[in-house]
Amino acid sequence: MERVMTLKQLIAGNWKMNGLLAARAEVTALKTGLKSLANLPEIVICPPATLLRSLLAETEGSPLKLGGQSCHPMASGAHTGDLSAEMLKDAGASYVIVGHSERRTNHGETNEQIAAQARAAWRAGLSAIVCIGESDAERAQGRMEDVLARQIEASVPKEATAQNAALAYEPIWAIGTGKTASRADIEAAHGFIRTRMEARLGAAGRAVRLLYGGSVKPSNSREILSTNGVDGVLVGGASLKAADFLPIIAGARAP
Ligand code: PEP
Repeated sequence: MERVMTLKQLIAGNWKMNGLLAARAEVTALKTGLKSLANLPEIVICPPATLLRSLLAETEGSPLKLGGQSCHPMASGAHTGDLSAEMLKDAGASYVIVGHSERRTNHGETNEQIAAQARAAWRAGLSAIVCIGESDAERAQGRMEDVLARQIEASVPKEATAQNAALAYEPIWAIGTGKTASRADIEAAHGFIRTRMEARLGAAGRAVRLLYGGSVKPSNSREILSTNGVDGVLVGGASLKAADFLPIIAGARAP
């Protein structure tokens, strides 16, 4: 069946552990630059949680939305150093990234914990951007599809819908490395993921937006965003500067 996309492409920026208060100036510049663009996609910035409040004031009245970078499954409690989805919502977020490979690797987050984080996001009224992706070694061993299938099965809850979730395919070998997956690689991986999402979630699995992430930059974003099956991008390094992020946004497909 032909897939009719009713939602806009989603362009999300993951600032990771970057940005002090002075980074507000980048958001001001972004807001100004957006005024000269027509047919905007949906745009989300996920700064460190320490900046959510000040960026909320900065983004007020603009098309920019804010997101967190991770959340704890519980709403509150004795979890030193963690943030709940409710806290992110309270600070101005409408999205949260869950399952980023840096969380999976650096914090040992499992698929099951990531599913619990996505459910926590929904409990708090946030949309979840669930990240999946294979490592270099897994791809070299021909295990890419098995890894993606397992991640979809165990980290995307059955309650996911196009309104409360997006899925980001981020091959680990392409994150922060400058190596981007080829158009053919992205199309093949997205085709596979879409089939598994439909098998798991039915109509919702057909509608959930599927983003690509991994060294997206102004020079390759237009090609990536026009690739079959790509409903947006998750951008790390190139989302930090308005001068890089703006041309990526401008390259989104018109709704
Ligand atoms: C990311 O952190 O999700 C990411 C894709 O990073 P980069 O764009 O820097 O590769």
